[in-house]
Amino acid sequence: MKVEADGERERRTWCYVQRPAVYEMAPCACGNSDTQWSEFAKHLWCDKCQIDFVPEHNGIFDGPILLYTCALMGISFDRINLATGAVEPFSVDGDER
Ligand SMILES: [Zn+2]
Repeated sequence: MKVEADGERERRTWCYVQRPAVYEMAPCACGNSDTQWSEFAKHLWCDKCQIDFVPEHNGIFDGPILLYTCALMGISFDRINLATGAVEPFSVDGDER
């Protein structure tokens, strides 16, 4: 088990190409749902409050993800590598034919 020091938060190394609202993640306590990925893992950034916060729920990530439904809805799971800025396309393991 990893123990974090007080006030030390794990930094995000990647984020999805689309905004948290696309994945139906919980809004900020102020009601703003137009949030961004925080630089800290498991956190989102609220522009209005200028805070990093942990969303109350993680939207579609909380349940089984229906990949084909998401594809139809235009939801992408491609990631941006924050160190390099490169987009890493999402692929389903074993789906290569
Ligand atoms: Zn807010």
